[in-house]
Amino acid sequence: MLAICLVPAVAGAMLYLNHLRDTALHDAYRAADLVAIGTSDRLRWLLQDAEAMLALVAARPQVRTADPTACDPILAEFRVISPAFKTLSLRLTDGRSLCSELPQPPSQQSVAASPWFQAAIRQPGFHASDGHLGAVRQEWTVRMTYPVKDASGQTVALLVTPLDLRQLQERLFAQLPAANLGAVVDAANRVLVRSTRQDERAGKPAVEMVAQGIDALRQDARHAGVRAPVSRQFPGIGIDGVRRLFVVRTVPMSDWVVVSGVPEDQTLQDYYATRNRGVALILAVLLAAGLAAWRVSRGIRLPILGLAAAARSVARGDLAPCAPDAGPTEVREVAREFNSMVVATAEARERLRASEREYRTLLQNLPVAVVSHARDGSVELFNDRACALLRMTPEQMKGTAADSPVWHFVDARGQRVEPHDYPVARVLRTRLPLSPQTFGIVGADAAAAHTWVLVTGYPQLDDAGSLLHAVVAFVDISAQHEAEQLRLAKESAEAASQAKSDFLSRLSHELRTPLNAINGFSQLILMDPQLQADRRVQLGHVLSAGEHLLTLINQVLDISSIESGQQSVATQAVPLAPLLETCVEICRPLAQAKAVELAVAAPGPGEPDLAPLRVQADPTRLRQVVMNLLSNAVKYNRPQGRVSLAVRQDPAGGEGPDVHVDITDSGIGLAPTQLDRLFEPFNRVGAERTGVEGHGLGLAHSRALARSMGGEITVTSQPGQGSCFMLHLHRADAPNAGQKPSRAL
Ligand code: ADP
Repeated sequence: MLAICLVPAVAGAMLYLNHLRDTALHDAYRAADLVAIGTSDRLRWLLQDAEAMLALVAARPQVRTADPTACDPILAEFRVISPAFKTLSLRLTDGRSLCSELPQPPSQQSVAASPWFQAAIRQPGFHASDGHLGAVRQEWTVRMTYPVKDASGQTVALLVTPLDLRQLQERLFAQLPAANLGAVVDAANRVLVRSTRQDERAGKPAVEMVAQGIDALRQDARHAGVRAPVSRQFPGIGIDGVRRLFVVRTVPMSDWVVVSGVPEDQTLQDYYATRNRGVALILAVLLAAGLAAWRVSRGIRLPILGLAAAARSVARGDLAPCAPDAGPTEVREVAREFNSMVVATAEARERLRASEREYRTLLQNLPVAVVSHARDGSVELFNDRACALLRMTPEQMKGTAADSPVWHFVDARGQRVEPHDYPVARVLRTRLPLSPQTFGIVGADAAAAHTWVLVTGYPQLDDAGSLLHAVVAFVDISAQHEAEQLRLAKESAEAASQAKSDFLSRLSHELRTPLNAINGFSQLILMDPQLQADRRVQLGHVLSAGEHLLTLINQVLDISSIESGQQSVATQAVPLAPLLETCVEICRPLAQAKAVELAVAAPGPGEPDLAPLRVQADPTRLRQVVMNLLSNAVKYNRPQGRVSLAVRQDPAGGEGPDVHVDITDSGIGLAPTQLDRLFEPFNRVGAERTGVEGHGLGLAHSRALARSMGGEITVTSQPGQGSCFMLHLHRADAPNAGQKPSRAL
């Protein structure tokens, strides 16, 4: 701004100073020109006077006849006419002196040979010569000549008169100020007269620079072709080393040139003073302006630098509002807006961070493993669950490609999936979302259980539809997968069990028919009184074996029909105490035979009375079960052993069976491995080696019956110490009493 104002002002001032200088120069040249004009005019007048005087003399009859005897009167007359001229002489065209005021005129030869004479003789009229040394006085002089013609117009003689250059110098330059230079030079640019140092400079050539100006002037005059005087001006340095402004001007009637010079310094003195004052003023203005600009710029610059520093600080990430509130109003306004912007940016960044934290928290806590891949397939973002699922550390995850050497996918059939068929590869390739697919993840230990995952993938596109990321989400479905496998296995096992039950049922039916025939006919034969005694014994064995076999078949059939659900049991409220007493009494003979004590434990103090207790059961089936458990407790006991029967009741309101019949013996007991297989049909878990009779069907049948009544049988046992078989039943007056128990399991 300052520059915009100052530059035109300074330029204007410079132009003005230049104008002043031009004006001063013009005035100086004008002054020099006036001197040149005056000098030239005076010379012209002088030459005109001389011509007129010489013409007057030349017209005299005595002169025209070149009568030497008439010289004296002519010269006298001439002296009267023009006392200003020094001497007058008349010479014939061959140089001979006809008349002369000089006592010893120069010789004919020297005159005839001199250039001025030769030039003058060729002139038709008046002629002013160049400067030359006078033959008599050896002074620098000029000769003015005029031809004397006879009656036929033929030049017969020359009137010759020298020009007194000292006098001329006096006449021309007496009034000239000393500092000015005035001079007249001849056609050869030699000084004729000079305002100063005449003796020293007369006859010397003009200084080079002036001579060049004079030559140019002569050329101008030749080109102009007119007789009127022409002039020219130029600067130059004179012989005295002073720089002057010169004006040169031709002198009519001669080849002379007037030189007028004024000293430049002196001439331009006023201008220089004005210029110096102007320059001083400009400098002062510039200084003041500079100072003001410095102050203003300092007032603007410092706040702007502060603003720039604040911007750099913000660029480095420091979002503190640190732009200084200083300087001019506009800068302060900018600083305030800048600080507001920084605060808004900081708030936006904080919101962004909070959002990112929220997003990361969400990502980390998702029950899903998420991995985001760049366009080149490298991993960019993931959560901890993804690391855990893929069995990779975060360091291993970062930047790795989708196909990692640490793990690989297998499909549902266990076949290894090629990397180009991985979900991320397909999303990157197709840019389409991927429908959920199940894969197994196999880690470095291929033998370890696979992690089964449900994988979905989708592309992240920008507004232009270009792919930014491919995001893949994994859900661990190992538990569901295992449950599904178990369900399938169970269904398969149940199908197999059903097939087995069906088979057994059919087989039993097929066996029972002929067996009934065998037993029936055996009984008929045994009824024959004539049957021999030994045959009766043998047939008794057949019948016994047949009935035993029929019992087994019936039990198998019973188990099978219960397990297959073909047989349902109708339960009722059965008083438990009388039923148990009956069973105990039935078993007592067997116990006595095995020397085993059989006892029914009475309820303890505070325990409910057994008498009113009724359970939800089929009395026949329940008796079968209790009998089987009691007989086993006796069978697999030791001599002098003990079997006790006790009933526990759970408080009302619980779930499941709430009446427990515990049959505890002090027998051989069972190992855990035996317990595992205790209820398998025909599995005696080693008892076949003990000599105790049995078929391994009792417990299986009992449990099937217990379950058919909604109950259960469980066992605890210590090898060598005894076992406790617990029959769990539902109390008949319980909330669920009266309901028909579920079918056999
Ligand atoms: P069994 O006809 O062999 O008695 P069970 O089905 O009744 O068939 O019993 C299966 C097996 O369970 C028996 O062979 C026996 O080894 C074992 N067992 C049953 N009850 C007891 C018990 N109270 N003490 C020890 N072992 C028992």
